[in-house]
Amino acid sequence: VPVPRDLDVTVIPLNGPVYVLVTDRTHERALEKMRADFVANSSHELRTPLASLIGFIETLRGPAADDPEAQKRFLGIMAEQAARMQRVIADLLSLSRIEISEHQPPEDLLDVRPLLERIIAGMEPMLQGNETRLEVAIPPDLPVVPADADQLAQVFTNLLDNAIKYGKRGGCIKLVAARAGTDARFAANGVLVSVADDGAGIPREHIPRLTERFYRVDKGRSRAVGGTGLGLAIVKHVINRHRGRLMIDSVEGRGTTFTVWLPARG
Ligand code: ADP
Repeated sequence: VPVPRDLDVTVIPLNGPVYVLVTDRTHERALEKMRADFVANSSHELRTPLASLIGFIETLRGPAADDPEAQKRFLGIMAEQAARMQRVIADLLSLSRIEISEHQPPEDLLDVRPLLERIIAGMEPMLQGNETRLEVAIPPDLPVVPADADQLAQVFTNLLDNAIKYGKRGGCIKLVAARAGTDARFAANGVLVSVADDGAGIPREHIPRLTERFYRVDKGRSRAVGGTGLGLAIVKHVINRHRGRLMIDSVEGRGTTFTVWLPARG
């Protein structure tokens, strides 16, 4: 299949034969576009809550100046909008730090089990809030893997956070860790961690794009549950840095499973 290329053509007038210099800019232009889209999307994500904040400040100074009831209500909304901006900025900074470190694979060897146990303990309030049960199976003899503990904590926190946010209220999430090699798809040595929910699932056509920055299946739902649209982009970049892989299996109406493979030192 011929691929349309983005070519720069320069004719070099020399005496004698005509030289034509053809430079393929396809990759370069695609990168430029991605960068420009990212800046536009980031600005948009911050501009929306900011516009709302400015609107409410004006209302508080004007029409609501003598209305304590309205003031209380508006301040509540303003606090939520400010918190949203804070989450977007925190995720943007994380993403940029992870990208900077991406060419430097982590060296410290990590036992994933205590890390997972710590994260699970921290998720307790959110699980209770959503009446979600969490079933955990982590064998005690997992191999250690070269890993950045803070970055991996972000990966598993984001996956569990999503399973709770987009899973079924009153549903059940399963977190399973295993030594790689027990799964035919990941014969190489290392660790597999999967997070499975029994929520609505994700339509097939969205799956390849889920790890793009700011990509959401349902924008309204993501915003309503406090999403920034950056969680899975962070997951992808951390896993890339660890030379691992992310697998997404989803069946509409049944649920979604995210599986992370982390290789042991080769
Ligand atoms: P967000 O901050 O919006 O949750 P993410 O990057 O973490 O952003 O996820 C991107 C999108 O993928 C979400 O907006 C949601 O539509 C979808 N998604 C992620 N995890 C799940 C899941 N477990 N079940 C269903 N949809 C999910």
